[in-house]
Amino acid sequence: MSELLFRTDAYLRLCTATVTAVDEQGLQFDRTVFYPNGGGQPGDSGQLLRQDGSTVVISNTVKGATADAVLHLPAEGSSLPQVGEEVTLVLDWDRRYAHMRYHTALHLLCKVVAAPVTGGQVAADKARLDFAVEMDALDKEAIEAGLNALVAAAQPVTARWVDEAELDANPELVKTMSVSPPRGTGTVRLIEVTGTDLQPCGGTHVHNTAEVGRLVVQKIRSEGKQNKRIIIAFAS
Ligand SMILES: [Zn+2]
Repeated sequence: MSELLFRTDAYLRLCTATVTAVDEQGLQFDRTVFYPNGGGQPGDSGQLLRQDGSTVVISNTVKGATADAVLHLPAEGSSLPQVGEEVTLVLDWDRRYAHMRYHTALHLLCKVVAAPVTGGQVAADKARLDFAVEMDALDKEAIEAGLNALVAAAQPVTARWVDEAELDANPELVKTMSVSPPRGTGTVRLIEVTGTDLQPCGGTHVHNTAEVGRLVVQKIRSEGKQNKRIIIAFAS
């Protein structure tokens, strides 16, 4: 069990934490700012600072066996901390912040392309969503203009928790950006882009669409008869 600090404050770049497990699966802590790979968003990388002044590079973060287990993967050959040791966890913030901006951009893309989403992936230099839609329904210039209008609208992005029962009673909320949050804890996290998008999501987002910045549609390509992939990137 780990307190998932990124759930309540995605802008935390570091935290102190106590080591709770060290084994071949990875390192675990009582709390963490590291997002584990899931829902189309990559796991975080960064560093662990020990009190003796040494550092351990964390090359990736993945989910453990339970919903609140987060496994931090140390770079090979690292000298590992002991269980009970107090350390400081520091994110590779530039990479994470790019993930937050792109992840939020995908919520906007959901709105602009009003079609069922079949998959998605965020990276630090681009992001994509796949839609079940015909190619001739997709206009590159119109999609780009739609995205940038939502960015320019500078709308707040907020999170709230609802009962699973409430979500089950309103199935239209689940658009499945393939970023569904873990179920089974009784509550589900909803992400709302004011006036634009509301859906369950476990990822990390920026506070305002203005922070996403200007976007370009890099490519639209067919990934099968009923699957079209839209790749977006920050405008350079
Ligand atoms: Zn999201």
